[in-house]
Amino acid sequence: MSPPHLTQDDSVALENGNVTDPRVDQIAGHVKEIIRILGLCPDQDPNLINTDRRVARMYLDIFSGLDAGTQPKLTTFPNDEHYTSMVMEKEIAFYSMCAHHFVPFYGHGHIAYIPNDKIVGLSKLPRLLEFYARRPQIQERLTEQIASTLEEELTPQGVMVVIEARHLCVEMRGVKKPGAVTVTSAIRGIFLEKAVREEFLDLMRRR
Ligand SMILES: [Zn+2]
Repeated sequence: MSPPHLTQDDSVALENGNVTDPRVDQIAGHVKEIIRILGLCPDQDPNLINTDRRVARMYLDIFSGLDAGTQPKLTTFPNDEHYTSMVMEKEIAFYSMCAHHFVPFYGHGHIAYIPNDKIVGLSKLPRLLEFYARRPQIQERLTEQIASTLEEELTPQGVMVVIEARHLCVEMRGVKKPGAVTVTSAIRGIFLEKAVREEFLDLMRRR
């Protein structure tokens, strides 16, 4: 039996499991008020009807990384092959939201580590980036959080993370510089050595 008063959008939300999340109503109320303050009619304009609830559900989706329960479990395996070279996942696409302006920033992450006695499933590296990206975020912190988590969970010889991203708060407002790319890096352990760092950058740039 379906709950009463379900709109089509609510059915979608039910599938996503957040129709009962009280935050949908709370956020939607504020979004509707913002729309009104902007001089628009959220109850009459057909394009704005339910926009408040769409935005609320979208926020709960794109900010799902705030729920610690969504943190990927970094299942590790013993490094039985005694692999002591670099493991890199590169060109990992991501979307996040700038904590300062609540507009998107997006781009690619490149994540590498050199193991000690533990290795991690390769799919976990993109999932880790995704988890920390799905919250109001700043690029510097995103980069550090990925590196710190890998350092803690794998105790590797070293970790390096580079993130290249375009920020809509730079492109569509403020200094209005379309196409500008912000690059951040977090470097731990053996990657502090120049030769190791250069190998990372060489692998990263190789297409
Ligand atoms: Zn910003």
